[in-house]
Amino acid sequence: MDTIENLQKILTSGPQPHLLTGEQYKASLRDGRQVFDDGAKVIDDVTEHPVTRRAVDTYAKIMDLQFNESTQDIVTFVDTDGQRKARGWQVPRNRDDLEMKRRQIGVANEVTLGVFGRPPEYGPAMSLGFMGVIDRIERENEQFAENIRNFIDMSARTNLLSTDLIADAQSDRSVPRMERPGTLRVVGETDDYVVLRGSKVAGSSGPNVHFFTLSSVLGEGLGPDAAIWAAVPVNLPGISLLMRPRTSQQNINSFDNPIGVLGEESDQFIFFDDVELPKKYVFSLRNLDLLTAFFDTGVYALWHILTRLSFRAELFAGTAQVLVEALGTDKIPAVRRTVADISAYAQVLKSFSFAAVDRCEEWNGVAVPNPSLVSAGRYYSITEYDNVISKLRDLAGQGLVSRWSKDVWDSPEFSDKLGAYLPGHDVSAREKNLISNFVWDMTSSLGAARLGHFEKVNATPPAAVAEIVYQSADRSTAAEFVRNYLREAAR
Ligand SMILES: Cc1cc2nc3c(=O)[nH]c(=O)nc-3n(C[C@H](O)[C@H](O)[C@H](O)COP(=O)(O)OP(=O)(O)OC[C@H]3O[C@@H](n4cnc5c(N)ncnc54)[C@H](O)[C@@H]3O)c2cc1C
Repeated sequence: MDTIENLQKILTSGPQPHLLTGEQYKASLRDGRQVFDDGAKVIDDVTEHPVTRRAVDTYAKIMDLQFNESTQDIVTFVDTDGQRKARGWQVPRNRDDLEMKRRQIGVANEVTLGVFGRPPEYGPAMSLGFMGVIDRIERENEQFAENIRNFIDMSARTNLLSTDLIADAQSDRSVPRMERPGTLRVVGETDDYVVLRGSKVAGSSGPNVHFFTLSSVLGEGLGPDAAIWAAVPVNLPGISLLMRPRTSQQNINSFDNPIGVLGEESDQFIFFDDVELPKKYVFSLRNLDLLTAFFDTGVYALWHILTRLSFRAELFAGTAQVLVEALGTDKIPAVRRTVADISAYAQVLKSFSFAAVDRCEEWNGVAVPNPSLVSAGRYYSITEYDNVISKLRDLAGQGLVSRWSKDVWDSPEFSDKLGAYLPGHDVSAREKNLISNFVWDMTSSLGAARLGHFEKVNATPPAAVAEIVYQSADRSTAAEFVRNYLREAAR
């Protein structure tokens, strides 16, 4: 099934020509994609399967925001052709456009609580990054540059969802990349398509989206055949997704797992078994020079990651407040200081996100969040992450383990006694238990562990981000000042 034709067909039956409702979005995922669950069983329908269903429902709610009066103007925009389209695909031309994207991330976060790293508005980020370096792509091949413009235009028209495929499969890293069988590469080519063989990893949210945005990164030993930037339909014959072990149980409820019920963001291994990718989706091929632009093309994605985490951090601060008030610890100076530390983390991240917009740059007519501020903000956000999560856990004290399920609270045998022995400050014992469940899901559940790891290594691990900060933060003026000052002092 052709993904675009399928989306176009589904859109004809809805209220807007270029926007999918939640239900239309769900229908669009029944497109013949090959997905296997964590027990190697085929997932016939990702909208129904226990591993993927909840996340799909959460994404459907985000799609419905496009039709909600109070959010429509934030999550959609009216294009130059007079048509309303998904905000994510708007090519930002100025600071205001970026600011609207920032607000959109906040609105989506109110649905997801920020626990999905690749929500619908994230998908276009890599394609917008390609637009930022379109002059370099044009020099390689004008048709490839045109392919990118067409892909963005078509994606905006069809409300398409996408996620990134960047990292290589984790085999022995001391073996040169082209000698690793798993390395994705071009193994054939006709006038119409290239043939891809090998694998990619993670592609977080893969089962929830329509396309992967494929982007190889330069590294030692990479040969031209593995140098490819492209968009790849998830349901293309020869592509299969094998899910990692699930982090949540099947029968959960919003009392026991107030965050877990939103579903888990899937990660998977993606096999490419001689996939024939139409050339209209190829954005760069066998151009090793271009791969050095990864941190330029990745800037929107990295800014989104930083901004989403900044909204999440505000939730950390809000949760800390709710928690200490419920425990009656909010007047204790040391507790207030811990809450202040968590708040400061949120404020710093918000400042980085704002500043990256305020000091945006213009590349090829596209407004780009300030790359140096994005890298520094991201580095701070991931190096402090564990610290902040640990403080939140600390504030919860025994509540993280002294928690009981909805079934226990509903049981006549225990509910009265627990209610009498465990009341909070101005909240019942049961309400206090729910707050602890929320903190558990936010800091300590299997899903929280996966998310914490995601925050730190998705896109690039801390050591690599540190190197980018080293290279991109300008110290030359200050260093010259210090040298001059010391020269004077030495006289
Ligand atoms: C939950 C999760 C979701 C993810 N989602 C996506 C996704 O949606 N799309 C996608 O493309 N990728 C995704 N990734 C993959 C992620 O981008 C990579 O894990 C990350 O870039 C690190 O690469 P690696 O795992 O190949 O590290 P490896 O090369 O296997 O190295 C392991 C570790 O060694 C260290 N290391 C190795 N080489 C270097 C180096 N040159 N400089 C500094 N440190 C180094 C780092 O600490 C690194 O984490 C996801 C990963 C996780 C865990």
